[in-house]
Amino acid sequence: MIKLNIDGKIIETESTKIVLEAALESGIYIPNLCYHPDLTSVGACRLCIVEIEGMKGIPTSCTTLVKDGMVVRTDSEKLKELRKNILWLILSEHPQQIKTSSQLQKVADWIGIKQMVSGYTPHSKNIALICDDPLFNRDLDRCILCGRCVRICQEVRKAGVLGFINRGIKTTVGTSLDLPLKDAGCVFCTACVEVCPSLALVDKEEFDEKERQKVLLPCTNTCPAGIDAARYVRLIAEEKYQDALEVIREKVPFPKILGYVCDHPCEEACRRGQVNEPIAIRALKRFVAEKDTRRWRAKIKISPASGKRIAIVGSGPAGLTCAWYLKKLGHTVVVFEALSEAGGMMRAGIPRYRLPRKILDQEIKEIKNIGVEIKTSHKIGSTQDLFSQGFAAIFLALGCGEGIRMGVPGEDDPRVLDGIAVLRAINSSKKADICGEVAVVGGGNVAIDVARTALRMGAKKVSILYRRTRQEMPACSEEVEEALKEGVKISFLVAPQKIISGGKKLKIECIRMELGEPDASGRRRPVPVQGSEFIVKSDRLILAIGQKATVPQGMNNLLNRKGWIEADPETLVCSVKGVFAGGDLVSGPASVIEAIAAGKIAASAIDKYIGGLGVIEEKLTSAEIETACLGRKAEFAHRKRTQLPMLAKKKRLKGFEEVEFSLTKNKAVEEAKRCLRCELRLKISKAPLPPST
Ligand code: SF4
Ligand code: SF4
Repeated sequence: MIKLNIDGKIIETESTKIVLEAALESGIYIPNLCYHPDLTSVGACRLCIVEIEGMKGIPTSCTTLVKDGMVVRTDSEKLKELRKNILWLILSEHPQQIKTSSQLQKVADWIGIKQMVSGYTPHSKNIALICDDPLFNRDLDRCILCGRCVRICQEVRKAGVLGFINRGIKTTVGTSLDLPLKDAGCVFCTACVEVCPSLALVDKEEFDEKERQKVLLPCTNTCPAGIDAARYVRLIAEEKYQDALEVIREKVPFPKILGYVCDHPCEEACRRGQVNEPIAIRALKRFVAEKDTRRWRAKIKISPASGKRIAIVGSGPAGLTCAWYLKKLGHTVVVFEALSEAGGMMRAGIPRYRLPRKILDQEIKEIKNIGVEIKTSHKIGSTQDLFSQGFAAIFLALGCGEGIRMGVPGEDDPRVLDGIAVLRAINSSKKADICGEVAVVGGGNVAIDVARTALRMGAKKVSILYRRTRQEMPACSEEVEEALKEGVKISFLVAPQKIISGGKKLKIECIRMELGEPDASGRRRPVPVQGSEFIVKSDRLILAIGQKATVPQGMNNLLNRKGWIEADPETLVCSVKGVFAGGDLVSGPASVIEAIAAGKIAASAIDKYIGGLGVIEEKLTSAEIETACLGRKAEFAHRKRTQLPMLAKKKRLKGFEEVEFSLTKNKAVEEAKRCLRCELRLKISKAPLPPST
């Protein structure tokens, strides 16, 4: 350690520091623009000049090492005047309006830009905005040639894409041969955007600081259960499969099931999608879940018995997740399931060709293995019954097992079937009344599952009637794609309005729709086109337009005026003390991952209610040392998303054989290496700003 004097203040610091850092660390601000804590200092902008006793000239503090006994002055009148002149030069080719919120604006305000610019007319370079690259735009008229973007691209990421191009007054930042970023080898880490002080490089998507994490690392931040997708994708790229699996297991007890059926909001939001195609995050999860050596099992902690008993009604993803976490905290957990097997909608609603039963059974077995008791074929009539059996708290996760009717004349014809009941029957190997030509009403995952199942059950022709367009369909786009490949027809902008019974075939009177203004769901409302009625003939009509919960009479005291069980969205607490409710029962039909997220909230809230801290998650992995270097990667932006191996179409309709297969090791690693490593941008240090900002 050495001691130096800056503006009369004695500062103790390490001998490897530069004067600028020593000053900033002790609260003395020296204006700067080309300096950045993560980059080598070059002293290019010269704003950080200081006076040092015994040293000739005015050195830049970002390139001068501290010395024992050094005496530094940062704020003399001479320095202030010189900085104004330097800033004048920097801004002489900048548009008059500096972007507010840029570091440049803040530094200019601190130096005193207002007095300075009154007497000069800047002549901007008139460089056209470049906005045809993915993720960020380049407004090089605003570039002040500080070189931070070039240095982070060259020195830190080692991608070597950005450099100074042209000569003299035409010098600017660009790519070799002025190629578009995709062709110049850009890895789209957007580190250059992060460090640009003038906002010459800007994200295409504007965002508020509060939204920063969600916009810049969307895969991790859109997962309802908080799975760190960016981290496990990186670990797969590094071939650390058990670590990757443990990252997933830190957040959910069902990695495999999710690897098969998650509706992957992470993938929808993945930034690689803006470059070409999103990372196949779900398929990577499945790959790594299938590589499970159960190393995680020896790491998980199961607390000693707390003496508290919790009842969970419903063994779907919400109920079983809640059971898993509460059992790990030492509570005695009993899950009551009305059906003969556990799994809720994962078993009753999802067809086997999407989720093989052995996968479901394996992961439910892990829940039982830690001591959760699951009582199947066990209907619960009221919460009071459970309290009288000595349960301290109850989680209601009954799901939504009853289909909604359309409310149109004629739908009580026995040939009009409930989609969810059809799936439940077929999934439990019971008979379902499917034959001939089948029409399905709806646009969600249940409608697609019903349509694909009907084909497998021998229907000659299956058509989906949907009242909006493909764009508004809530079903997973890849499921829709597979349904079309298998021969399902979809009629868009069509709604049934009457069922005419009596004949050999059902006559479904439909009306054409057009899209009007957006409704509460944000999707454009379908509006009937008067006089456009037409008839669709069909042997069966299956309704898949939504589901509701069947709440036992003994729980009517928990219902709100609309007939739904109401629970606080933060804690899932119901109107009766000790009763919690979540999952589809409260939210309406949702995805498996959303139900898992609800189960976690319930576990935390119940643990707190019975005297615990509500801390349910545990670390199974320790943080890795990550390199910020990405290197040059040939054709990186053009690398295509890995296609999943699929069962041949002609084999599919013969039964319920699994349709999608797992990635091979090589394909999985190759796919994981397409990731943009968006998390690295969030680890870039903040540039030092003037104290007033
Ligand atoms: S684009 Fe931004 S970071 Fe790059 S040299 Fe110009 S001002 Fe500096
Ligand atoms: S590119 Fe990688 S880090 Fe970025 S959003 Fe996609 S998966 Fe996540």
